[in-house]
Amino acid sequence: MNEYSVKRTILGQLPYGSDLHDELTAIVRRENIRIGRIQALGATTHARVAYYDQNTKTYNPIEFPGGMEILNVHGNVSMRDGQPFVHIHILLGDAEGKIFGGHVLPGTKLFACEVFIDELEGAPLERQPETRTGLHLWKTGHLS
Ligand code: ZN
Repeated sequence: MNEYSVKRTILGQLPYGSDLHDELTAIVRRENIRIGRIQALGATTHARVAYYDQNTKTYNPIEFPGGMEILNVHGNVSMRDGQPFVHIHILLGDAEGKIFGGHVLPGTKLFACEVFIDELEGAPLERQPETRTGLHLWKTGHLS
């Protein structure tokens, strides 16, 4: 089991019109954050998420055009193909307070977004293809 402590926390906002996935990826690569935790809130002008179909092992995209609240973004940073890689999920709220969400894909455009990134102290986790799930999962870091 790997143990971590928080090395530093970055807090800031992402620009209007920027892409949530691509912007977070650029920040962790620029800051060389190899292992970390991401949290955010705000609003989108267009959201693009995915549902992972466990039978076909494919990400099926779902689009949410128009303004939505970002009730939560939760994610992590680890290493994939030798580079910092973000894995983020999002909860979205519509005008009636209904909640939707999924695995964040590139194409989610921001109206506003306030972000916390915790860089952790400890061994980075490395993603590798895993045949049973079809996902890129952590090579180490099993808790049981
Ligand atoms: Zn995911």
